[in-house]
Amino acid sequence: MFFKKLQKTFFFITIGALALLVLLWYEDYSFDKKPLDDKYKTQLTLKLKELRYLAKINFNIVREFPIIISEEMTANRFGMAVYERDGSIEIYLNKKRFKESSNYMINDVLPHEYAHAIMFHISDFSNKNSGHTKKWQRICKKLNGLRCERFVNHNDILMEKTKLFN
Ligand SMILES: [Zn+2]
Repeated sequence: MFFKKLQKTFFFITIGALALLVLLWYEDYSFDKKPLDDKYKTQLTLKLKELRYLAKINFNIVREFPIIISEEMTANRFGMAVYERDGSIEIYLNKKRFKESSNYMINDVLPHEYAHAIMFHISDFSNKNSGHTKKWQRICKKLNGLRCERFVNHNDILMEKTKLFN
């Protein structure tokens, strides 16, 4: 009798764990398939407004940099600023990273990349320190960036988009 009860308990625990697994898997799956959630979009739009305003009052730059929420960026990348051969400048944000850290993506990564975009805009293509020069840092800070340290050890500026996804 006791073992029967134990068996039953284990049975329900197993079913419960399986159900949880399926649910988590489904949440992951639907996050990947759906476009970015509206709540993130609203936060992004607000932050962009602020960044454009700061670019205008601090540097007299009036320009809209397209923001691309990319599903194809490798998971270790958060964002990138890309300068195209035709002179267009885009900011890429890794969609995969929004799920666990949307706040970080919007308030740290975006201003950081925005500062790179402004460097491109003023035709400063310095590759020194992977673009994290003192000038870049000053711009980043003026944009209320939270991640403006100069010794970021990754490459997040690009002048040829083809390299973006490897
Ligand atoms: Zn950077």
